[in-house]
Amino acid sequence: MSTWEKNIRKVVPYTPGEQPNEKNMIKLNTNENPYPPSPKVLAAKEDLEQLRLYPDPVAKDLVHALADYHGLSDDQIFVGVGSDDVLAMSFLTFFNSDKPIFFPDITYSFYDVWADLFRIPYETKALNDAFEIEAEDYYPENGGVIFPNPNAPTGLLADLGFVRDVLDHNRDVIVIVDEAYIDFGGESAISLLPGYENLIVVRTFSKSRSLAGLRIGYAMGNPKLIKALNDVKYSYNSYTMNYPSIVLGVESIRDDAYFKETVSKIIATREWFEKELTRLGFTYPKSYSNFVFASHKSVPAREIFEEAKKKHIYVRYFDKPRINQYLRITIGTDEEMKAVVSFLEEIL
Ligand SMILES: *Cc1c(COP(=O)(O)O)cnc(C)c1O
Repeated sequence: MSTWEKNIRKVVPYTPGEQPNEKNMIKLNTNENPYPPSPKVLAAKEDLEQLRLYPDPVAKDLVHALADYHGLSDDQIFVGVGSDDVLAMSFLTFFNSDKPIFFPDITYSFYDVWADLFRIPYETKALNDAFEIEAEDYYPENGGVIFPNPNAPTGLLADLGFVRDVLDHNRDVIVIVDEAYIDFGGESAISLLPGYENLIVVRTFSKSRSLAGLRIGYAMGNPKLIKALNDVKYSYNSYTMNYPSIVLGVESIRDDAYFKETVSKIIATREWFEKELTRLGFTYPKSYSNFVFASHKSVPAREIFEEAKKKHIYVRYFDKPRINQYLRITIGTDEEMKAVVSFLEEIL
C-alpha cells in the first residue's frame, strides 16, 4: 500500500434501505410515511427568488416554531439536515472522551459508523431475549450513552422510568435519546429536560411528519449543550438548513391537526396489521413505531423478503446475528397493508 493510501480515512459506510422507484411498488422498507405532507406544506408559496441569497444561518423561524411547539426556548433547539446530521454533529460534539460510549447491539446501524468515522471508542450492550434494553448495562463508567426510544429496528418502547434510570446512573456524560419514532405511541423524554442538564433528545421530520425528502431533524437540550452543538456546526458548515426547508418545516409544525390525524391513522393500521400477523403465524414485539418487526414461526424471513420483492413489495431484511429471522415492515396505507396480508396468505 502506498503512503498516501495509508493516510486516507477509511470507513465502512452505513447502507440505507434500497430506494427503488417503480410505478406500482409497495414501499415499506425505509419507514417513510405513506401519507403526503400537510396540505399547508404543499401549498406554501416560497419566494424562490430568495434562493439567490444565503439562507438564515441560524434558521431562526424554524427554531422558534419548534421551541414554541415543545414549550422550550429558542436556545434549547438545534436544527440539522435530517436527524442523521443532528446525530453526527452530536457524536462529534459530545462523545469526546477516551472511555467507550455505550449503545445497544441491535439498534440504528448508523451509530457504530459515526463512532468509527470520528474514532470514538464504543461498546455495544446486548438487548435481552425479549429485545429490551437493560438499564443496568449502562451503569458502568463510559464516555456517553445513546439509544433510540422506541428502539429501531425492534419498535420496542422503554418507559420514562427506564430513561430516568439511565440518566441517574450517567450524570457525568451526555445521554442522547433518539426519538425518531416517539410520535407513534411513546412518552417523550422532553419532560425530563429540566431535571437533567446532560440530556439531548433528537427528533426528525422524516417519519411522523411525512417529510423525509426535505431533510429536517432537531435536537433539544439545555442551552449550554445546544451552544456547543452550534459551535461545532458553524466550524464545519454554516449554511446547512436551506431556505425551502426552513419555510416548509415551519408550515409542517403549524398544521398540528393534520399531523395528529395522519399519525393516528398509522397507529390504527398498525394495530390491525399486528392482529393479521398473529393470525398468519408471526410473532413480533408490540410496536410503538411506524413499523413492525416480525418473525414467522416456520418460514425463513429471507425467503419472504425475496418473494415479496418479486411482487414489488419492499420490506427490510437485516442479515445479522439474532435478527436474521425478522422482517421490518413499515406501516403503509390500509390498502397497502391489505395487499401485504394477501401476499403473505398466498406464499405461506
Ligand atoms: C430514520 C432514523 C433516523 C434518521 O432520520 P433522518 O431522515 O436523518 O431524520 C435517525 N434515527 C433513527 C433511529 C431512525 O430510524
